[in-house]
Amino acid sequence: MTQISTIFAELGFDFSAHAGNDLHSRSPRDGAAIASLRAHTVAETEAAIKNAQQAYEKWRVVPAPVRGELVRILGEVLRENREPLGKLVTLESGKILSEGIGEVQEMIDICDFAVGLSRQLYGLTIASERPGHRMMETWHPLGVCGVITAFNFPVAVWAWNAALALVCGNAVIWKPSEKTPVVALAVHALYEKAVARFSQQRPDLLPSNLCQVVLGRAEIGATLSASPLVPLISATGSVRMGRKVATTVAERLGRSLLELGGNNGMIVTPTADLSLALRAITFSAVGTAGQRCTSLRRLFVHSSIYDDVVNRIERIYASVKVGDPLDAGTLVGPLVDQQSFEAMQTALQQAKAEGGVVTGGERVAVGDGENAYYVRPALVRMSQQSDIVHHETFAPILYVLRYENFDDAVRMNNAVPQGLSSAIFTNDVREAEAFMSASGSDCGLANVNIGTSGAEIGGAFGGEKETGGGRESGSDSWKTYMRRATNTINYSRTLPLAQGVKFDI
Ligand code: NAD
Repeated sequence: MTQISTIFAELGFDFSAHAGNDLHSRSPRDGAAIASLRAHTVAETEAAIKNAQQAYEKWRVVPAPVRGELVRILGEVLRENREPLGKLVTLESGKILSEGIGEVQEMIDICDFAVGLSRQLYGLTIASERPGHRMMETWHPLGVCGVITAFNFPVAVWAWNAALALVCGNAVIWKPSEKTPVVALAVHALYEKAVARFSQQRPDLLPSNLCQVVLGRAEIGATLSASPLVPLISATGSVRMGRKVATTVAERLGRSLLELGGNNGMIVTPTADLSLALRAITFSAVGTAGQRCTSLRRLFVHSSIYDDVVNRIERIYASVKVGDPLDAGTLVGPLVDQQSFEAMQTALQQAKAEGGVVTGGERVAVGDGENAYYVRPALVRMSQQSDIVHHETFAPILYVLRYENFDDAVRMNNAVPQGLSSAIFTNDVREAEAFMSASGSDCGLANVNIGTSGAEIGGAFGGEKETGGGRESGSDSWKTYMRRATNTINYSRTLPLAQGVKFDI
């Protein structure tokens, strides 16, 4: 693991203070150990929440553009460390290097967005029905934001949340995935560098414990979710986890922002530009080894082009390079672990039992890592959306189905419990508009002539139904991290009541 020590040295990062025997980080690339770490206890997590509350009380009165300066410096530090941090993302999560570095780029992009936002936390001025009155809304910091993240975007999701939460005046506690704790600690070390630079410019402004990391499994996430001192829980992960977090947070009437599983579909119509469509299908379905929430899992192809499209995908699947995620030519890296490999094989067995015809999906030997799980992406011809097609299997399995008319294709797209991402390839403007209309795709992301994965940070990201309904990142997602006050000001010499109510005293 000399590679790892070089990266740690480049990042100026030393995790020895966290060494322990609770969490064992392994690289999906070759199964080799990266580090063994100590998890936080419930009591330590509760103490971290109290410290965060104190930090929030100081930070909320710092002017928002000054808060933006901290995030600007964080973006600067991330820029300086883009490559080593991206490499660490690759080593700990298994995604290919261009995606690992791309993930750090997303962190930088959201920092830039948040810096601009720090001067644009606008409220409305609203016409009052009463003479001599004015109404307006003001947006205030919310409190401590708990951020629970998944293994497959081990750092960007924290940044999507933290950059906005910080400029909005909040404190942040991060519970990263137990599968990717090391890169979370590395990000925290970079955050500390940003804090040191900020404090040189503006001593005494920045409270300690404004951003903290708590390591652990579900129990630590559950502790955050249950705390009345954490008004917002932003949780990214499986639907199973989301149901638990949502119930716990709802029980105490807190706010949750849920980014859960997807089961994303694409429609390929007779007018589609197939050279674009095939590229988009390939990257969406096999990129990140099918381990993106937005990975393409269901493909609906018009029967007039079905054989041609499916045969071409089959040829591409047979030749895509499955291999070491650090090698430049690799498109498909490893699955995260053995459990994930077994879940994929079980899903393929079930698909066969339900009438599917499977090509690919077998284990591929890469290097000498017995504990690394590489697979050839699987293509499954299905005659209908059977039970297994309704489930998100977090692996590169693409179910392909034939459709006859456009309305049926949209119905099929919408016929699953999840509602994250969707796409259509068409050059027919009627189909494109209908797909994005009220009676079209029911997903949070509905794309035309691009794939289901690879969203930009400028838009609000999230999905409907079992995906959880949350929106994070761009557009007006920042509002979730603030509380809104409606203010009515009377500058007249009378006290008229709303709705014309009259009374005598
Ligand atoms: P996971 O649900 O196993 O774990 C996610 C996080 O939740 C981890 O930090 C875990 O420790 C924590 N957790 C688990 N149970 C918990 C509980 N009861 N209370 C509080 N925290 C708990 O998910 P995973 O395997 O790491 O990630 C894959 C899943 O994440 C897929 O379903 C994928 O679609 C989803 N995902 C969604 C998005 C999105 O934006 N919609 C993004 C990335 C991943």
